[in-house]
Amino acid sequence: MAPVPTLLIVDDDPTVRLLTSSGLKKRGYQVIQAMDAEQAMLLMQDKNPDLALVDVSMPGRNGFEFVQAVRNGEAGNANRERPLLMLTGSDDVQSIDQAFTSGATDFITKPINLPLLVERVKYALRGAEREKALREAQIEQASACKLASLGFWQLNFSNDALTWSEDATEVLNCATLPKSRQALLKLLNASDGLRLDTALKVAREGQDGLNLEITLYLGHSERIVRLQSDPKTQEGQLIGAFQDVTALRAFEDKALYLAEYDELTDLPKRRLFLNLLDEKLTDRKPTVWSIGVIDISRLHRINDALGIEAGDQVLAMFAKRLKNILGHEALMCRLEADTFAVAIPHTDSEQMRAYYQHWLQPLARAHHVKSEEVFVDFTAGVSLYPQDGSNSDELLRTALLAQRFCRDHAGNQKVMFYRDVASSEENHALSLENDLRKALENQEFFLVYQPKQQLSTSRFIGVEALLRWRHPTRGVVSPGEFIPLLEESGLIIDVGDWVAEEACRQLAQWQAEGIEVGMAINISARQFEQFGLASRLSRHVAQYAIQPRQLELEITESTAMINPEATLLTLYELRKLGFKLAIDDFGTGHSSYVYLLRFPMDTLKIDRSFIIDIADARPNRAIVRSLTALSQGLGIKTVAEGVETQRQRDYLDALDVDDIQGFLLARPMEPQACLAFLQAHARAMVVN
Ligand code: C2E
Ligand code: CA
Ligand code: CA
Repeated sequence: MAPVPTLLIVDDDPTVRLLTSSGLKKRGYQVIQAMDAEQAMLLMQDKNPDLALVDVSMPGRNGFEFVQAVRNGEAGNANRERPLLMLTGSDDVQSIDQAFTSGATDFITKPINLPLLVERVKYALRGAEREKALREAQIEQASACKLASLGFWQLNFSNDALTWSEDATEVLNCATLPKSRQALLKLLNASDGLRLDTALKVAREGQDGLNLEITLYLGHSERIVRLQSDPKTQEGQLIGAFQDVTALRAFEDKALYLAEYDELTDLPKRRLFLNLLDEKLTDRKPTVWSIGVIDISRLHRINDALGIEAGDQVLAMFAKRLKNILGHEALMCRLEADTFAVAIPHTDSEQMRAYYQHWLQPLARAHHVKSEEVFVDFTAGVSLYPQDGSNSDELLRTALLAQRFCRDHAGNQKVMFYRDVASSEENHALSLENDLRKALENQEFFLVYQPKQQLSTSRFIGVEALLRWRHPTRGVVSPGEFIPLLEESGLIIDVGDWVAEEACRQLAQWQAEGIEVGMAINISARQFEQFGLASRLSRHVAQYAIQPRQLELEITESTAMINPEATLLTLYELRKLGFKLAIDDFGTGHSSYVYLLRFPMDTLKIDRSFIIDIADARPNRAIVRSLTALSQGLGIKTVAEGVETQRQRDYLDALDVDDIQGFLLARPMEPQACLAFLQAHARAMVVN
């Protein structure tokens, strides 16, 4: 329930105070009184009333002076915009005028007509509320613009004058901006100048809007700016928006490097390593390669004892030592946080064991970090080309299996070869993976579905399909356990394809039962990189006669960032086919929202970690609010994941999030239960 508004009556006449106050109290308002301007000023500061009724003539400062003082902030900033109603003599046109010039919101004539006063009060309070909401929206919009480095400009073709939005200098981080087209052209290099000039001519003819990127040379700094406008001009004016993309472009350059290389160790990442290795293997000389995986044990202990920085330092030193020992011939990469892979060419496969024992030894020597001696413990696994695999994927997989086996079963031994492991009966890692290999064939996978609710209508508008594995002896295994294995082994391609098909089949079946919902499926990085994803998906959709727009593909932020350029192309291809696209787990990666805006997407799924403490953490609310504000402007839907409490739901509703998903509504359910749930809620909607 809304709190009771408090009204302040300022009048030196006690009878007026008494009568108005009791009349207003009867209508449910809380009333406080002051007999002059001084007392009123103190009460305003103290109680922040929602509205004040102010008499004109009072001893000391009169009503006009009081109103003026409040508007100047004498009663504090919180009261500056307060609705102030003046009580004037009837037909006293002059004082009515003066009331408005002093800053009064409205007036009411004496003697007071109570029903009329109540109407005026209600009206003023409502107006104040609306103004407040508007002010807040303006502030939010301005901060959203700043967040996205956005601004506006306007060009008048008749006199060449160029004007910019208020914050433009701040956005572009400069003192002044050019005030005419000519002056703007002078800040560009010749080719940008020519492009812009031509684009402006085309725009002036009304043929096409502006959409180009130029570099502005502004005194000491250079800004890369994207200019956009409508295709049509308005009475000789062209109005457009600009976005400062300097940081974005710098970020992209870095992203391209970071997509391939690890910054800390300056070593290639997995994908580049595998590509390079495949290239070498097809060279056919030399004929033998060994692939080694070295996994550092208990790096977290170093992190805990000496700090993350020290941990990073150890990793960098370890990588440097690796490079020194192995030289230029070998390929190396940082596979994961604490795992490295190497590929070494050999002339034959003799003496391999002795060779590995020998070169791994110096890696175990102490590092000196923060004047401490730090020993790095590790286990290694080795596979050989050609016997343990014919391509880089298989070789890495077999080396990893050998390494895991070494870590779990080998005692003090630091290195094991896949040859030893493959024959071992008790190879658990292999057995789980083998089980997974058979799981598809044995139909051990199934999907569960979690509903999503649209907050504005309370309708359940979609479901997310989540994969489960019913292991013959272990029971239902959660995706957290087996999806990494599927990804590592490459099985995710086939399993992911099964998920897509099964989800389509289910959707068609529900549709036949009269349930219309959208279906979201998760796409992993490996699938996303795979050629032909779009055509496989199209085939499933066609087979079950559903529309591509009923299928939403969830791609995590980190997947999208693995190879942003390629991602962009695939996303455009999928979008062209009509699929809906969602960025999943948003906020867990390090990419900026503005950067992600380059990806065509329909939905942004805000990660559970933001939602957990949304009810008590202000920063998270502010983040969610600016995400929704910006997304709304761009026509992107926001979904909050992992909503568990009604309080979280209320906050998300207030923050204008579109849809929610989480245990509060329902846990992921098997198809029958989900159908029953959706039907029950559809019925409830009709009844209400
Ligand atoms: P995700 O895509 O972020 O899926 C949401 C996860 O949050 C699900 O876990 C869901 O059960 C859980 N969840 C939903 N509401 C709540 C809540 O209110 N509180 C809490 N604590 N958790 C909630 P699940 O099913 O264990 O899936 C985990 C992850 O496994 C998924 O995260 C997704 O990344 C991956 N995954 C699941 N199915 C597939 C699939 O078919 N393909 C791929 N590539 N990945 C999948
Ligand atoms: Ca998901
Ligand atoms: Ca998610």
